[in-house]
Amino acid sequence: MQLPKFFSLKEMTTTSQNLPNHPETWEEFSALRDTALLLDALREKFGKGIRVTSGYRSAAVNAAVGGSKTSAHRKGMAADIKPSKNTKKSMLELATLCRKWVSTLSSPVDQVIIYTPTGKDTEDIKWIHIGFSDKPRHQLLFKKSV
Ligand SMILES: [Zn+2]
Repeated sequence: MQLPKFFSLKEMTTTSQNLPNHPETWEEFSALRDTALLLDALREKFGKGIRVTSGYRSAAVNAAVGGSKTSAHRKGMAADIKPSKNTKKSMLELATLCRKWVSTLSSPVDQVIIYTPTGKDTEDIKWIHIGFSDKPRHQLLFKKSV
């Protein structure tokens, strides 16, 4: 079994909420591992550290953070990411890579959501959501960071 190189299970299940946050089914475990393997590929391209601030979300955690019920985080198929060294330049580089990847029709990237203070396409990026799917929609969205 191929195991992710850069992203531990601990990091993929990290949460700011004081609630249990572990996959409950093999499907969720398997999807979360696949997500980490895809993040490995992104990490290789980026050439620098990437930090996951939210990967898998249990129902309790998802409710506590106000996530949508159909959120890809619930299925282990999405992650919110930032560069480990969180500078404006690194963030822009990571966003550029994610934008390229989501627009590549052969990629498994379902959605990239870029969070900015205005919810518009600006260079002031707070974090990036990246979601994967077997039937990717290749959506690029901008949302307001809270
Ligand atoms: Zn997210």
